[in-house]
Amino acid sequence: MRTIKIVYLWPPSFTLEVTATLPARFEVCSGCGGEGTELGYGLKGLAFSAEQMNEDPDFRESYFRGDFDRPCSTCSGRRVELVPDAGRMTFRELRRFKEWKRYKCECAHDDYADKMTQWQESGCPRDDCGPIYPEGY
Ligand SMILES: [Zn+2]
Repeated sequence: MRTIKIVYLWPPSFTLEVTATLPARFEVCSGCGGEGTELGYGLKGLAFSAEQMNEDPDFRESYFRGDFDRPCSTCSGRRVELVPDAGRMTFRELRRFKEWKRYKCECAHDDYADKMTQWQESGCPRDDCGPIYPEGY
């Protein structure tokens, strides 16, 4: 049986570290959608307008040709990832799984807020286009 090890800080105080081994299965990678690659060179998560792309045809061509791609950081190019399998968990494992998901969600929220602050302060890694804000922000 495949298993996955999870580590998180126990809610609600987030001071006690919990380690658990849970039943797991392979799924299409959530990081790349099964492509095996992602944008590198600081371009991941950035958005470019059609005007910006048209101002730099060489960049546009390289971008769409995949010159800035690198192996996915989630799956290392394997296109699948090991994920917890809730359908095969005991009650105790399921409780750990739910705590871990909650912890990951709260951490992702913090990462997003940090990234927004970084973009607002520093702008795009390509120095010609200035700060870029995601849609709806
Ligand atoms: Zn991937």
